Amino acid sequence: MATIENSYFRNELEDRRKRLLSVTPAGESESTIRQLLVNVDAALSRLQAGTFGICESCHESIEADRLLCDPLVRFCIDHLSQEEQRALERDLGLAAGIQRALLPPANWSFDGWEARYHYEPAKLVSGDYCDLIESNGSFLFLLGDVAGKGVAASMLMSHLHATFRTLASQNLPLHQLVSHANRLFCDSTTAGQYATLVVGRAWPDGKVEYVSAGHLPLLHISPSGVFTKEATGVPLGMFCTTNYPVCQLSLAPGDSLLLYTDGLTEMFNEAGCEFGVERVHSLAKRHTAAHPEEMLSACLQEIRSFSAASKQTDDLTLLVLHRSH
Ligand SMILES: [Zn+2]
Repeated sequence: MATIENSYFRNELEDRRKRLLSVTPAGESESTIRQLLVNVDAALSRLQAGTFGICESCHESIEADRLLCDPLVRFCIDHLSQEEQRALERDLGLAAGIQRALLPPANWSFDGWEARYHYEPAKLVSGDYCDLIESNGSFLFLLGDVAGKGVAASMLMSHLHATFRTLASQNLPLHQLVSHANRLFCDSTTAGQYATLVVGRAWPDGKVEYVSAGHLPLLHISPSGVFTKEATGVPLGMFCTTNYPVCQLSLAPGDSLLLYTDGLTEMFNEAGCEFGVERVHSLAKRHTAAHPEEMLSACLQEIRSFSAASKQTDDLTLLVLHRSH
């Protein structure tokens, strides 16, 4: 394990050791505290011996996000005891329920606009982010992808959700909204944690503005063609002081926007071919007049037949915004 991580875990463990020693245990808690001290000392010895972070059963690396949450873990996820497995499944089930409750309503509409989305975690919880927020005669649409998967990514996803929900009520111009969110995200994450994200605002007259923080191209689908809109800035959380230029669009009645995460483009088939942005583009071209629900099911049908027997390895989210009148 890298030296910098070693010193991080050593500090963490020594801090925990101090805290345990400062407790004056009463009654039953005495043996618990004593056992915890033994476990902390054992973890410090593993650091010394160079076996910290290695599963005692299979000798592979233990998942980094689990070690960060609990430096005392000694087994990888595949080698937990049955009791630990059951506890973990219960926790993940709860986390998945909390995450589902953060999603916008399934059949969402707002003054001439309709939105439909598909949200599918690769496992129980997802690092993908999707939200729709009405604010001051317009609405915000947000779709993003937190780097990584699993519990750590899902916690950052709910953090983003809370940040944007709070900022949305303040009626800030879009570039300020994203800059604030970026700084808050930078302040509350560790190095290497970031999120790619599209944040947009749409009005009843079809006017749309958006920022794409390092996210995959969004597609403007209209009868005259499909237009690709590339990222306008770097991912959120990468640099604390950066600008997020805002782009403008105008959607006529019948036009749509398609947003997606890399669970779509990075889907592989059995031959090892990637689905890719080009396939999303040509798919959109074949469904320019589709209702958002049809667009979604066409996308899903196409990726299911493309990936057929391959297992979904990444979180997948699609969002279609449609200007109905
Ligand atoms: Zn193992």
